[in-house]
Amino acid sequence: MDKFYLYNTLTRQVGEFVPREEGRVNMYTCGPTVYHYAHIGNLRSYIMEDVLEKFLRYIGYDVKRVMNITDVGHLSSDGDTGEDKMVAGAKREGKTVMEIAKFYEDAFFRDCEALNIRTPDVVEPATNCIPEYIALIERLFENGYAYEAGGNVYFDTSRLSDYYALTGHSADELRIGVRDDVEEDGNKRSKTDFVLWFTKSKFDSQELKWESPWGVGYPGWHIECSAISMKHLGEYLDLHCGGVDNIFPHHTNEIAQSEAALGHSWCSHWFHVQHLNDREGKMSKSKGNILTVSVLKEKGYDPLVYRMFCLQSHYRKPLEFSWDTLDNSRAAYERLKNRIAAIADEGELEQEKFDEYRARFIENVGNDLNTSLGLTVLYDVIKADMSGKTKLALIADFDSVLSLSLITEKKAEAQSDEFTEWVEGLIAERAEAKKNKNWARADEIRSQLAEKGVTLKDSKEGTTWTRA
Ligand code: AMP
Ligand code: ZN
Repeated sequence: MDKFYLYNTLTRQVGEFVPREEGRVNMYTCGPTVYHYAHIGNLRSYIMEDVLEKFLRYIGYDVKRVMNITDVGHLSSDGDTGEDKMVAGAKREGKTVMEIAKFYEDAFFRDCEALNIRTPDVVEPATNCIPEYIALIERLFENGYAYEAGGNVYFDTSRLSDYYALTGHSADELRIGVRDDVEEDGNKRSKTDFVLWFTKSKFDSQELKWESPWGVGYPGWHIECSAISMKHLGEYLDLHCGGVDNIFPHHTNEIAQSEAALGHSWCSHWFHVQHLNDREGKMSKSKGNILTVSVLKEKGYDPLVYRMFCLQSHYRKPLEFSWDTLDNSRAAYERLKNRIAAIADEGELEQEKFDEYRARFIENVGNDLNTSLGLTVLYDVIKADMSGKTKLALIADFDSVLSLSLITEKKAEAQSDEFTEWVEGLIAERAEAKKNKNWARADEIRSQLAEKGVTLKDSKEGTTWTRA
């Protein structure tokens, strides 16, 4: 395994990343709250987490990555007094919570696909795991960290000596960082206590509710991530990711409840992506000043231009969005692709050079995920004195981390081979169905192919096809 140095929010320094089990990484990512489209700020976090995951795989780790989908419990206030964002979203659109959850989850994954973001190994909607939250909260009661008040169940932060370990700040300093409105909840013994299970809220329109030992209600947002992570990754986590706004209170509370339930430390490495801002400040779904992948497309930008824009800067620095800087990234991306397209696939593969540049790429990106230095190594390859074959092999190799679709023609060819195989498989199945007089299946296949622009022509010799 190559060495990888990464900043850890918990230790507040760059250090060697060493997972608990040799060669394996348990990775958890806070997923989207699906009450609206993801904005390109959210997607900055997901792009950088994607590069992180791919880089870990690139240097030889076996990564298991889990992500939740927040479809319940994330309130519009960090102070546990707001309305569930999902309920507010459903009201806004005159739909049910599950309808908007499905709609925006699908939209999120379409955006991810357009940005070459790999889907995590496990994606778990929060509403799937109610028994797991109840079991975890029961464990917190057994260990003396939970209490009931005014109908809700709270976590008792006064039992912890290092509640602020992740933030490194005092309670007073943090009050400034808390997002949105913070209204005090009189049921809390300490102001930092947080809700594990709601049965009472001033909003009585909560649509989804479940039975629990504490009454019919719904889980708090933080408990989701602890329980979903433990369900799929066990009691120890190597890496937990999110945007910097998640540090407090969300991740702070995740640590509090996970460690209180488990009785040992839980996650060793915390990775946080700084915000994408626009001129008015942090881009945020609740402020409504959002830019989406669809807007980029409508304005004629390839979404990968935005991926390039993100990779050109360091994930720990705030990034200011403007159309001018995006235009610079577009020009750089187009130039890069043109230069690569001009490289002829000829000569021998020069293994020594390949290894030398690969090592440089690993050293540079492995220095706190420095993607812009990774791009510099890529430009060095293009300029270097080596065979076209070696260059193209290196570019394809680096692109397994950068995911900028740098070698598009080859990719298109591979895709078209796959597509042809798929079409011809269905044509064979259709011929078989017709032989067996299964006309319904035969028609179904014809329309399935038509959806992809494939037209079939039957003749005595067999079936031929064309694609629009
Ligand atoms: P949400 O859908 O609001 O739960 O947020 C999804 C992810 O996007 C979380 O990891 C947030 O920390 C992150 N995030 C939210 N706003 C921004 C922003 N302006 N820039 C970068 N990441 C963000
Ligand atoms: Zn989370």
